[in-house]
Amino acid sequence: MSKVCIVTGGTRGIGFATVEAFLKDGYKVVLYGSRKETVEKALEELNHNPDVSGRFTSLTDEEAINRDFDEIKAELGSIDVLINNAGISDSTKFADYTVEKFEKIMNLNVIAPYVCSHAAARIMQEQGHGVILNTSSMVSKYGQPSGVGYPVSKYAINGMTISLARELGKFNIRVNAVAPGITMTDMVRALPDQMIQPMIQAIPIKRIGLPEDIAKAFLFLASDEASYITGAILPVDGAMIA
Ligand code: NAD
Repeated sequence: MSKVCIVTGGTRGIGFATVEAFLKDGYKVVLYGSRKETVEKALEELNHNPDVSGRFTSLTDEEAINRDFDEIKAELGSIDVLINNAGISDSTKFADYTVEKFEKIMNLNVIAPYVCSHAAARIMQEQGHGVILNTSSMVSKYGQPSGVGYPVSKYAINGMTISLARELGKFNIRVNAVAPGITMTDMVRALPDQMIQPMIQAIPIKRIGLPEDIAKAFLFLASDEASYITGAILPVDGAMIA
């Protein structure tokens, strides 16, 4: 029977590439997006592959996510891998920061992975195995010069990853994170060449990361090849120092 993987924020960017990689590897995938339209568009781009379905439940609605994950387990037989990928960034100056802005970032980048991990871990514990993968960032090592909420949220994700790895290891649940560097998603693609070139020069490996680079790291960490790896924050950043 195919393994089952849930990917939050699977409608574009890193999440979409991850959905494609897991499908190619033979998984059944459930992708989450923020809106019905974007979920439908992603499923269309995947040619309505019967091995993928989509949902747009709010990731911070604990009751609804618990219900969803129970349905997924009943329909597909298991939840083998959860990838907490949905996230938002921000570069607001500290002087202009507000509690509302801070809460918005923390809600999607920290509370949502907590809610989804909690719901998945309950099922993974019952079935006797599972892998939870989080999406950190290079800014969790270096901070960033504006937009304080984002690096705070990614430091928090590192803490959640290491702590849950320690707590859930005894249930045969591994928990790891991937920490991407600058990755070529729509946002980066829209930047003018004169901004992109200096970025490339600052990356020792001399190219910007591709969503597929991050997807491959998720695939490895989800696989049995990584069966003794848990509590790791894997940088996939071409050795860039922010
Ligand atoms: P993206 O903006 O291209 O995609 C974000 C995804 O999150 C989308 O699928 C979107 O539907 C979902 N999303 C956004 N708001 C949501 C909400 N309120 N509720 C539910 N889902 C929502 O982003 P990306 O660049 O592919 O980033 C994916 C992850 O990688 C994020 O956690 C991000 O912090 C992290 N990351 C990205 C980079 C980069 O350079 N792109 C670098 C480091 C870390």
